[in-house]
Amino acid sequence: MTNQIITRARKESRKLLTEIESKQMLKEAGINVVETMLATSPEKAAGIATELGFPVVLKIASGDIVHKSDAGGVKIGLKTAKQVAKAYDGIMKSVRQKFPDAKLQGVAVQKMARPGVEVIIGMSKDAQFGPMVMFGLGGIFVELLKDVAFRITPLEKRDAAEMIKEIKGYPMLTGFRGQEPVDIGKLEDMILKISDFVEHHPEIKELDLNPVFAYKDGAVAVDARIILEDSN
Ligand code: ADP
Ligand code: MG
Repeated sequence: MTNQIITRARKESRKLLTEIESKQMLKEAGINVVETMLATSPEKAAGIATELGFPVVLKIASGDIVHKSDAGGVKIGLKTAKQVAKAYDGIMKSVRQKFPDAKLQGVAVQKMARPGVEVIIGMSKDAQFGPMVMFGLGGIFVELLKDVAFRITPLEKRDAAEMIKEIKGYPMLTGFRGQEPVDIGKLEDMILKISDFVEHHPEIKELDLNPVFAYKDGAVAVDARIILEDSN
């Protein structure tokens, strides 16, 4: 599956994999992701949503759109088939308006995940050291405060544990102000699986699980983005 996805993207001269493609590859690598399916019409989106169970989230599926929310391409908390069909049209319309040249595959339909502590796991490549795995808390912690930890691959269990502990926001994970502590073991496991996955796929240039929802009993990636290296 993973190799097929990469081959198809290369054939289309595409470096950005869609969320659906990225999640398929990650799932195959044993990483927990929200199940996500492609719909190519409002009716099909409503049908998939009914099968998955409400509430659902709809997002633009395109190899040309990097930031789906910024493009008006994300609608969360949809509770009925009617809302889903309407959201499909709304997403297509606003993305077409903002990115008239983008090739749109359709809309990704997925279950709305229950709220958790938002974290980010990523990989980027350093010119000198190669693949580096990144861990941080989601939202303003990463964007504003740059509260993140990096390690060069391959990572060992101890590296993953240290990365999680060294961010300033660590108390957010251990039960800050009466919140439930999250399953740190599962986060370590996810970080190690990402390290392993990118080690086995040098054709991946960049990877982002943003956000991952961390719970007291597990963790799940609700968004995923993979960018491929230039082919040669
Ligand atoms: P973007 O391309 O803009 O990063 P995301 O897929 O990350 O798009 O969606 C934007 C936000 O919507 C996420 O940060 C998250 O808070 C929320 N979200 C996305 N998917 C889900 C989901 N399946 N369940 C719950 N919330 C979600
Ligand atoms: Mg995201």
